[in-house]
Formats: sequence, C-alpha cells, structure tokens
Amino acid sequence: MTLSYDPPKVAIPGTARLSFESLKSSAQRAGTQPIRLSNDCIIKPQVSLAAFTSFRVGGPAQWYVAPKQFAELQASFDWAHAHDLPVTLLGAGSNLLISDRGLPGLVISTRRLRQNQFDPESGQVTVGAGEPLPLVSWHAAERGLQGLEWAVGIPGTIGGAVVMNAGAHGGCTADYLVNAQVLLPDGTTKILTPQELHYRYRSSALQGKNWLVTQATFQLQPGFDPVALTALTSQHYNHRRTTQPYHLPSCGSVFRNPSNDYKAGWLIEQAGLKGYQIGGAQIAERHANFILNCGNAMASDIFRLIRHAQHQVEQHWSLQLVPEVRILGDFQAA
Ligand SMILES: Cc1cc2nc3c(=O)[nH]c(=O)nc-3n(C[C@H](O)[C@H](O)[C@H](O)COP(=O)(O)OP(=O)(O)OC[C@H]3O[C@@H](n4cnc5c(N)ncnc54)[C@H](O)[C@@H]3O)c2cc1C
Repeated sequence: MTLSYDPPKVAIPGTARLSFESLKSSAQRAGTQPIRLSNDCIIKPQVSLAAFTSFRVGGPAQWYVAPKQFAELQASFDWAHAHDLPVTLLGAGSNLLISDRGLPGLVISTRRLRQNQFDPESGQVTVGAGEPLPLVSWHAAERGLQGLEWAVGIPGTIGGAVVMNAGAHGGCTADYLVNAQVLLPDGTTKILTPQELHYRYRSSALQGKNWLVTQATFQLQPGFDPVALTALTSQHYNHRRTTQPYHLPSCGSVFRNPSNDYKAGWLIEQAGLKGYQIGGAQIAERHANFILNCGNAMASDIFRLIRHAQHQVEQHWSLQLVPEVRILGDFQAA
C-alpha cells in the first residue's frame, strides 16, 4: 500500500499552556495531596494500577493523571519535570506487567484522549491516542473502509498500537499508518511517519522513549461493502475468542515469536509447560504463549513464570525468548 502524508485533522482541544511557575510551586507543595491541573483534571497520589491493566495486577502509581485536553497533557509533563519525577505512559494496559510495588513518579493515562474522524471519501481516519483499537476497527468496517478488520481482537488503544506495532491475522499497524503525532517531554509536538518510526515486528522507535502519541492517521480503502467488511471483522473476532483464552485476565502473547518457523507458544508447549502454574499465574492450556491470572495472581507470580518459561525453552531449544509484554517497575526481589 502507498502511504501518503497529510497533516492530522483532529485537533485535541485546549492548547493554552498552563504556567510552569504555578506548576512548580504546586509540585513543591505537593506532598501527598491531589493536584488540580484544571476543573476536569487532577493528579492523584497512590492510585492502584491493577484495574488499569489487562492482567489485573500491579501496585500503585506514586502519582496518576488522565488528561483530556492537550494543555493538561503538557501540564502533566511539566509538573513531573518540576517535581523531578519519572513519567510512565499508560494506554489500555493490555501489554503491561507492572510490579506489585507499583511505579514511582507520574503515570499519564491516555484513556480520555478520545476523538475520531472517518473520511468516507478519502479513506483517511484520524483518531485520538486513547480510542480503543477494536472500536476503530468496527467503526471503519461499518463505514465501508477496508483495512483494519485484523485489529478487532486487540484490546489496546490507538497509542499503544502505534508504539507496539500491534498486529494480527497478517495485518499490522505499520501497514496502514500515515503518521502519528507525538508530544515530547519538553512540551513540543512532532509528526512522525512510519519510516521515522522504524517499524519492525511488534517494535517501533517509540519503545523505551517517553514520547506520547496523541493521535494517529491511517489510510484505509474507501468504497467497500460495509456488510461484507463487518462480517469479516466478526469472523476475526470470533476466531480469536475460540482459539485464544479470553476468559481470564492476560496480556495476550507474552513472548515475541523468535521466527516464523519457531512460534513462542509451540516452543513453550514442547517444553511441557502447558498448564504450569506459579501462585495464581498459569500458562494457558489453550495457547501456551498466554499467561493467565487465575484470580489471585501477583505480578511477581507472572514474572517468575515468564522467567521459568524462558529458562525451560532455553534448556530445550537453546533459544532465548524475548518478552513482548512490557515489564515495568521493580521485580528484583521477586
Ligand atoms: C487478550 C489479548 C489479546 C491480544 N492480542 C494481541 C494481538 O493479536 N496482537 C498484538 O499485537 N497485541 C495483542 N495484545 C497485546 C496488546 O493489546 C497490544 O500490544 C496493544 O497494542 C497495547 O496497547 P495498549 O493501549 O494496551 O498499550 P499499553 O499496554 O498501555 O502500553 C504498551 C506500551 O506502549 C506505551 N504506550 C501506550 N500508549 C502510549 C501512547 N499514547 N504514547 C506513547 N506510548 C504509549 C506504554 O508506555 C507501553 O510501553 C493482546 C492483549 C490481550 C490482553
């Protein structure tokens, strides 16, 4: 597919910058009191992150904020900077393992960055970072815009998909992305093309950087039959539900596939680990590249199971499995 460049069409409202001096004094006063950035946006202390991850594990964020406006996003970065705090970016948390000890600094959630624009003529779709990827997939199909049917079973946000190069059923984010707008920690924005994002399998130049994707534009093919596209989307959705264990909390595939010949799930299965359990975490019977939280897992159980699977696969196959899941926080003593 030929990718064309077009500046993003959806502007995140509220571009006025909050004063750095006022943020700095609020940071100095901060202590453990909530900090109000605007009427609608509060930086809160000690917020449990378990509810914000698909594994349903993880300790508290030292500070947590979910901005809705662009100025609030900028102010959140400024506040962390003024307080000399590290920043962690959180989408839907569907590819994260967060330590039971939680995360120091400020966690910025993108879940309220919700806006979208579908152009049925050109096929261009511009969406905010916090839009759920499955929702965008359904909406595109309903409008006869072909391209994102593969994305329906991936329970992340648009921002997370851009960073992870999320993909399924032979499609991936890089194939359809025209550009992504990012907010840099110094408060400036940049528009990045797929070439600048250096996309590879489940990987992009944004991983390990604190550049916040605010919105992304995709080029889809207009003029398709919405009924046929919706049927194909449903088919992908149902296929995922029947072949993968969606009934318990997980992060989807834990490891990257080492190659097309060696799938991580097959290697783990051959090492005899299906059903293997540590604490409340279990390697799924249905798909060995999934680890399930069977109800009472700690993040440390999942972490130990990841290390155990890596060790066993290395013993059997002399292959090092690399986690796809992003592991955040302190697991040293786990
Ligand atoms: C049941 C299940 C099935 C899954 N199936 C698939 C699949 O088929 N294919 C696939 O590719 N993945 C799959 N996943 C994994 C996951 O859904 C994807 O990796 C998804 O793209 C992560 O998006 P997220 O919003 O949840 O990101 P998060 O998990 O919140 O974050 C992932 C990384 O992206 C960063 N990040 C998130 N948002 C932003 C932003 N706006 N700006 C900058 N950085 C950001 C985070 O800091 C973190 O490093 C599955 C997960 C589950 C639970």
